Amino acid sequence: MDGNVPGKASGPVSTAADTGMEGAGRTWSLQREWSRAFLLMLAALLIGAAVTIVGVRGLMDQVQATSAELHLRLDKVEVLRSALDAHEQLGHQMLSNAPGDRSAFLRQQEEISRLFQETAAILPGETGMRDTIATARQSWQEALTAHGLWGGQVQSLQGNHVDESPALAAASAEVRKRVAEIRHYSLLEMDKGLAHNAELEQLLIIGRIALFVVAVGVTVYFRRRMVKDLMRPVESLHKGVQKLRGGNYNHRIEVFRRDELGELAEAFNGMAAAVHNSHLNLTHRATHDPLTRLANRAALMERLTESFGRGSTRRNRSEGLLFIDIDDFKDVNDSLGHERGDDLLVQLAARLQGCVRTHDLVARVGGDEFAIVVMDDDAGSVTAGVAERIHEALRTPFFLGEDRRTVTASMGAAQRRPGTSDAAELLRQADFAMYLAKHGGKARYQLFDAEGYDHMTYRAALKRDLATAVSGGQLRLEYQPIADLNSGEILGVEALVRWQHPTLGLLAPSEFIPLAEETGDIDAVGCWVLDTASRQAAGWRKSLPRCENVWIAINLSTIQLPNPRNLAAIKGILSDPAAQADKVVLEVTETALAGSTDGGVAALKTLKGTGVRVAIDDFGTGYSSLSSLAVLPADILKIDRSFLGRQASEAQSAAMLEGILGLARMLSLEVIAEGVEEPGQLDLLRALDCRMGQGYLLARPGSAEAIKALLASGARLQPGPAALEEAVDS
Ligand code: C2E
Ligand code: CA
Ligand code: CA
Repeated sequence: MDGNVPGKASGPVSTAADTGMEGAGRTWSLQREWSRAFLLMLAALLIGAAVTIVGVRGLMDQVQATSAELHLRLDKVEVLRSALDAHEQLGHQMLSNAPGDRSAFLRQQEEISRLFQETAAILPGETGMRDTIATARQSWQEALTAHGLWGGQVQSLQGNHVDESPALAAASAEVRKRVAEIRHYSLLEMDKGLAHNAELEQLLIIGRIALFVVAVGVTVYFRRRMVKDLMRPVESLHKGVQKLRGGNYNHRIEVFRRDELGELAEAFNGMAAAVHNSHLNLTHRATHDPLTRLANRAALMERLTESFGRGSTRRNRSEGLLFIDIDDFKDVNDSLGHERGDDLLVQLAARLQGCVRTHDLVARVGGDEFAIVVMDDDAGSVTAGVAERIHEALRTPFFLGEDRRTVTASMGAAQRRPGTSDAAELLRQADFAMYLAKHGGKARYQLFDAEGYDHMTYRAALKRDLATAVSGGQLRLEYQPIADLNSGEILGVEALVRWQHPTLGLLAPSEFIPLAEETGDIDAVGCWVLDTASRQAAGWRKSLPRCENVWIAINLSTIQLPNPRNLAAIKGILSDPAAQADKVVLEVTETALAGSTDGGVAALKTLKGTGVRVAIDDFGTGYSSLSSLAVLPADILKIDRSFLGRQASEAQSAAMLEGILGLARMLSLEVIAEGVEEPGQLDLLRALDCRMGQGYLLARPGSAEAIKALLASGARLQPGPAALEEAVDS
């Protein structure tokens, strides 16, 4: 018996109202039945007791009565017999004519007659004993009459009749025999009576056994009824409670009979149905978005997790996940109000639902964010198709009250692949693709690209790590000499920062400076470089011969300048005499300065107050007009290495270089040519009378120790012919 009542198992079950809780529809009553049963048993018990008592009592009475009667009879017979004997005696005397009281004889005779009568009266008529006594009396009277001894004859009896004595004796013996018969009969009868009593006793025993059998039968019957009507429902109720507790809300108890327990079972079923309903409600609420009635994020994750958990039962089983974000939804909310915004979301949900197949799952995962699990999409074409349909569906305007609105959506899709570790990763990928779609100009569909994602996550990780790079002592400095192109003398060194990343190794500035500018960590990095490099150079000036004028060039990001606190920090470092600011060159890119209207130039002018010089870095790559160059607080121009092209000797490059050099001269700016890699470039620069240069041909950037050794050696870097001649002369 599984207790699932057919037809009642799944459908909504009767509630308290229709289960007849008040007993209206009750056809059986356990109380009534069991009261009746106990009454019946009680009655049986009482009857049994009564029968026993009455039976035994009756039996005793019977025995007593029988014996009393017998005693009476035997006594009477005895009295009669002795009276007869005495009378016979007297009779013999009368016959022998012996003197005697005749009137006493007659009284005796009357007495015996009365005794006969009394005895006859107490004998039962139906046994024939009365006849016997009557016959005995008759014989007695006749015998006396025959010998003249009866009544009046006695007075007239004369003479001796001894000869009649034997006849009288014989007749008397006959009478005595009759009387003895009576005695015999009585004893026989008593035997019979006792036998009857024994029968009665047997009957009594049989009756009691029968009662006992009935009692046992009734007990067995009621036990079975109890099992059927009490235990079975109670057991199934118990089972029902356990199933309910175990979360089986569909289980219903079989209603065996419409009695109190039946009502209880129905009430239980009603309760289970109510619990089931509220469970469904709760589950629905927990897994659905109340506004759009779509699945919520939790349900989406559950669906994905479940399918990931199942593993790849089918080979290459794969879901597509489409992440949808409504473009500029905020505008709708702001201009039309949140109610209309909600209205839009509801309509949108319906349209999204219309763009998928029944087994795909549409979920609302955020305010204006939706996601669709596209099932069994191995190649990704189904997901792309869904995205296409959504774009198409959004072309029709939405009617929001009196307003008509058209919205677009940015969509990102990710495909589950064997390497996709879990649901969260798939969601992240789709979210990332959506982000790219959004940043790629909105109203677009973008498929997840693992490389782009890796790049993004790599950058994000680096940004995180940057925060501790300075405090963790992970930054290093290399120095690249800047030389006089004719003499080869090292005039200055440029400090170039590197990051010794704990896991990624040595990172070039191009790999982290732009990130540091984004995060703001550039302030700390810049100050560290400025402080470290200026002190380092001051140390060399002090300790190395012929190096007292070597200056140090330090790159500044323009991001560092507008921030007053940071500017103050830079100023503070430079104001320290240890830094020797007059031997410091701050390199700032032309582009950055030209683009910054927020005090970059003003800040540089302030810094120049400390005695530093300013170099325009990468000159020629930016868009600064030549007129703006005049107002920049610059002392040095660093010509970008792109001007020393591969074909540096080409007339065009040479002309441009010549132009820049002429301009610099007019503005009284020193010039440093960057990126001198080949002797031809060096020759050209010399020919154009460019005084300073920097590049791999002259010296590669090196560690502080290497540069210190180079400076200490007093080496000349690629000295020109004039310098060589001079050296030979001296
Ligand atoms: P930059 O200021 O133009 O620095 C010169 C870069 O050119 C250095 O690269 C240097 O190694 C490289 N270089 C030097 N000679 C040659 C050559 O002959 N041929 C070629 N192809 N390259 C040459 P590095 O060290 O990778 O620095 C790259 C950029 O990072 C620097 O360009 C600068 O803008 C920035 N940077 C370096 N250190 C710092 C710093 O401490 N602060 C800031 N804000 N930026 C820095
Ligand atoms: Ca530089
Ligand atoms: Ca440069």
